[in-house]
Amino acid sequence: MTTWTRRGFLGSLSATAAAASLAAQQKRTGQPKLKITDLRCAIIGRNPVIRIVTDQGVSGYGQAESTKAYLKPMVLFYKDYILGEDPTDVERVMLKIRRLGAFKPWGSAVSAIEIALWDIAGQVAGVPVYKLLGGKIRDRVRIYNGGFRPPLTGQMPQDYAENVQKMKEAKEGFTLIKMAVGFHNPAMMGAIPDMWYDEPRKGASHPNRGLMTERGLKHVIACVEAMKKVLGDEVGLALDCGPGWVMKDAVTFARACEPMHITWIEDILTGDYTPYPNAELFRDLKQATSAPIHTGEQIYLRQNFKDLIEKQAVDVVGPDPEDVGGIAELKWIAEYADIHGILVAPHGIFDGLIGLAAHVHMAAALPQNYIAFEYPFGQPEWWYDIVEGLPNPIVKKGFIDVWDRPGLGVTFKVSAAKSHLAEEDRQFFD
Ligand SMILES: [Mg+2]
Repeated sequence: MTTWTRRGFLGSLSATAAAASLAAQQKRTGQPKLKITDLRCAIIGRNPVIRIVTDQGVSGYGQAESTKAYLKPMVLFYKDYILGEDPTDVERVMLKIRRLGAFKPWGSAVSAIEIALWDIAGQVAGVPVYKLLGGKIRDRVRIYNGGFRPPLTGQMPQDYAENVQKMKEAKEGFTLIKMAVGFHNPAMMGAIPDMWYDEPRKGASHPNRGLMTERGLKHVIACVEAMKKVLGDEVGLALDCGPGWVMKDAVTFARACEPMHITWIEDILTGDYTPYPNAELFRDLKQATSAPIHTGEQIYLRQNFKDLIEKQAVDVVGPDPEDVGGIAELKWIAEYADIHGILVAPHGIFDGLIGLAAHVHMAAALPQNYIAFEYPFGQPEWWYDIVEGLPNPIVKKGFIDVWDRPGLGVTFKVSAAKSHLAEEDRQFFD
């Protein structure tokens, strides 16, 4: 989360170009329809990467979050369900596997497969994926910075102020920054003694929750005020807060944020790895404050956004395309949110560079309730050396220009990427 330099790459995309002509070639030769012949998964760096292989030389790639190296067996579980299918009939393939997923992290494999299918479909049609999602309504997409920062030097308000000052000065020109506060940030909650009425618990995925003490709540608010003072009205500030707050604290905090015009308050009650949406509680919070309330990064499938949207429980939904079931799934949710007056800001910090490409195509085609997606980065840094097709620089003035190459338009420099494969994944690109 602390890497500080970024690069993009331009290069020839001969494999993609060859694939793009496949449709015309099929017409000429009367070749049979495309068939999926293999589904592979390799852990490259920290990201599970999936490859769908076909019988006619076209491959599609998808990716899951860099936090999920354990996902490989889960990806391979779906192999038998999709072998022999035509990958360009994306929905027909998804009907076979979509019901076999669940909330984060168990929707990740299905989501990565969906994205790889769109990559193939785009290459075969000779069009960028955004065309298959309905076409773009914007030529550049706004991103937000949720993790691209130098290390914090401490946990006091001045430390947070200095940190966002550096983020504000970054060459990417971010227009919106998200910071972790409250129970989403265990370091902040350990800054001073007795910030809440429970024993601190260790372990994955935000184990702490409870009623905050007066000093705890005041400390969190002081950190937010210090950051806002730096960012002013030039750069938006969103806050990733929980889960774990009790309703009373959440209301007090949200009301304190109102005069600061915080862009959104994320997952303060439940969220992240919480395996349910909790629409009623979020609706109560939303009705108690004018500060925008946000949730949804852990939620799988459109059906599980139904209550949040129809009950007007939040102001912003934030599904992650690599958890929700893919990019077409997310677009459906964004459209449904839009007709209910709800905004969308997709989660994506750990989605990697193939994930970044998926976000760009998706965001280009989302309706006007789109705010920004969370900018994913390559981890480790050598990820930028093994893919081609990203703009250089990737981000300009807080936006990414949408590219027009077929499929996702970003693929691997195979010889460079091979050197980072584990022994058991040696055949991944063959
Ligand atoms: Mg979050």
